[in-house]
Amino acid sequence: MSIFYPFLTVWQNILCYTKPLFLPFFAAGLTNNSKMHRFLSFLFCLAIAGSLYGQTTLFVPRNYLEPYQKGTRSWDGKPGPNYWQNRATYTIQASLEPKSRRLTGEETITYINNSPDSLKNIRFKLQHDRYRKGVQRAFDVPATDVSDEGTHIESITLNGQAVDAKSQNRFATFLDVSLKNAPLAPKSSATFTVKWSYTMPAASAARECTCDSTTFFVPYWYPQIAVYDDLNGWASHPYTGQQEFYHDFADYDVKITMPAGFQVWATGEWQNARDILTPTYFSRWDKAQTSADVVSVFSEAELKKGGIFQKNAPNTFHFKATDVPDFAFGTSDHYNWDATSVVVDAKTGRRTFVSAAYKTASTDYPQVARIAADGIHLMSTWLPGYPFPYPVMTVFNGDDGMEYPMMCNDVSTAPRSPMGLTLHEISHTYFPFMMGINEQDHAWMDEGWAAFFDYLLSDSLSNHTEGGVRDYSAIAGTENDVPPMVKSRNLSMAYRNASYQRPSQAYFTLLDLLGYEKFHACMTEYMNRWKGKHPAPFDFFQTWNNASGQNLDWFWKPWFFDWGYPDLGIEGVLRNDSGNNQTILISRKGNIPVPMHLEVVYTDGSKQNFHQTAAIWKDGKQNFRIQCPAGKTVQSATLGKTTIPDVDKADNKWPAGK
Ligand SMILES: [Zn+2]
Repeated sequence: MSIFYPFLTVWQNILCYTKPLFLPFFAAGLTNNSKMHRFLSFLFCLAIAGSLYGQTTLFVPRNYLEPYQKGTRSWDGKPGPNYWQNRATYTIQASLEPKSRRLTGEETITYINNSPDSLKNIRFKLQHDRYRKGVQRAFDVPATDVSDEGTHIESITLNGQAVDAKSQNRFATFLDVSLKNAPLAPKSSATFTVKWSYTMPAASAARECTCDSTTFFVPYWYPQIAVYDDLNGWASHPYTGQQEFYHDFADYDVKITMPAGFQVWATGEWQNARDILTPTYFSRWDKAQTSADVVSVFSEAELKKGGIFQKNAPNTFHFKATDVPDFAFGTSDHYNWDATSVVVDAKTGRRTFVSAAYKTASTDYPQVARIAADGIHLMSTWLPGYPFPYPVMTVFNGDDGMEYPMMCNDVSTAPRSPMGLTLHEISHTYFPFMMGINEQDHAWMDEGWAAFFDYLLSDSLSNHTEGGVRDYSAIAGTENDVPPMVKSRNLSMAYRNASYQRPSQAYFTLLDLLGYEKFHACMTEYMNRWKGKHPAPFDFFQTWNNASGQNLDWFWKPWFFDWGYPDLGIEGVLRNDSGNNQTILISRKGNIPVPMHLEVVYTDGSKQNFHQTAAIWKDGKQNFRIQCPAGKTVQSATLGKTTIPDVDKADNKWPAGK
């Protein structure tokens, strides 16, 4: 049954916003019991609230209000005039010793405080501390990978002065370095150096990968400064292995040293290929930079035979990346390397260099570089229809399906096609990387999009998916179908549906509702406004309202804020008074609005399809009438499609049961 009362909701919400801000007026009205006073206070509150929040009828949690009052965000969905975010530069030198799996590094970080606050401490993320004894984890890890120390911090300096690392506040996967004697003032910077080391997990583990004794995928590996933002201050959710990213944008200059015979693939552009590869293999690598065809840079057999590297000794691979939220790398001494390139911006001719690095046993992987390049072309030109922002993209054959800037750790899907996984992980380039989403809080703002692009682009390239509808229909309306606006960090069993299935279905419904042109225009506006920044939910809702020229709150509310489910049904077929035509009555039995698609067969053997976007359910409408052409008699009607979620299909046929 429907639970959609838009008018009531508007007033309830205004009261919700009003109460914390204007409580004295309510209190005064209540204590002297003056009806007139109370009424005037109420009107005054509504007028003020309307001017402040007139642009949304959605429930705004109280903790979201401060950024609007401070002008860091604005109700039209644009970054506010006072928007700020902090950033950093990282210069890192690291090495990984394959036998011991010990990673050792030293880094210099320059952190710039653009906030209006003096920072009394700087929070570092030590994400490998997920393996530290006593630390909370969302998933079990082998006891043999857990250590007392987690990340070993050998030394820290702050602006050249030694910091006693042991006396700092270390908790969960964080280390707070105190600046209480000299807080970091607004518009100033601090320079840290850190020396650290840790041991990679012995077995294959989620996200990081000890793939075999000489192949590693290495994320979450360096002490990284946490996000300090206008919404929450210092990010406080530890890395437990469940919720993924929230990082600030940074520039990276990274050198990774590996023993003789190892190649490194990483975030960023490889700076010293000419110094490391022999001329034959350098020219293959160089050719792939501008080739539209897939080129083998080297095969496993060639790598094992030797002759690829100029010296039979350790090599230091140098990478640079600008404006990225993280850095990851993969390394192996026996992987194949395919590469190609694709134009991602027709105006400038800019290309992205696309690679697949994989073991020979992964029989799906020879397709991956082609799929990746074709997918990036579609992402750049169709949907999201925004030039792919990175110069490099490498899909590394690891043990997961996990994205990093310019890198994926993707398991082999053989004998199934690697298409869906490849497209999903690469499309994350837009969300959460180019658009710096806090997916620890709002995973639907990136996973929902990645699932949407994965289904959509897979359909375009191979025409075989139903867009995840079955998965969502199976869970919709159950107690594990939590409204996506519940913070991701508060979810466990409900995390996946709230982050992937339900929002991706909302985005498909939105595409149908707005049509490609308007949908693309909204997406472009959203990206133009928030590229390189940290959009939060209301920045998204309000930007799309603003850019589409329509208030879509009636759509956002049931899909993102309410419990419920999509369910349409055929109520019946009526003959009109004139007797010359029929009306098919469709009802909305669930509160979540979806498109209406109906296939009708008439008694004369002819067929007709009717399609309406979810807009027919706007403003709480419960019924929709389809007028059949005069002279036609309905023999049968079938409601729905495999691409439209619907929890109860028993009432989707007329006559019933046929
Ligand atoms: Zn994803």
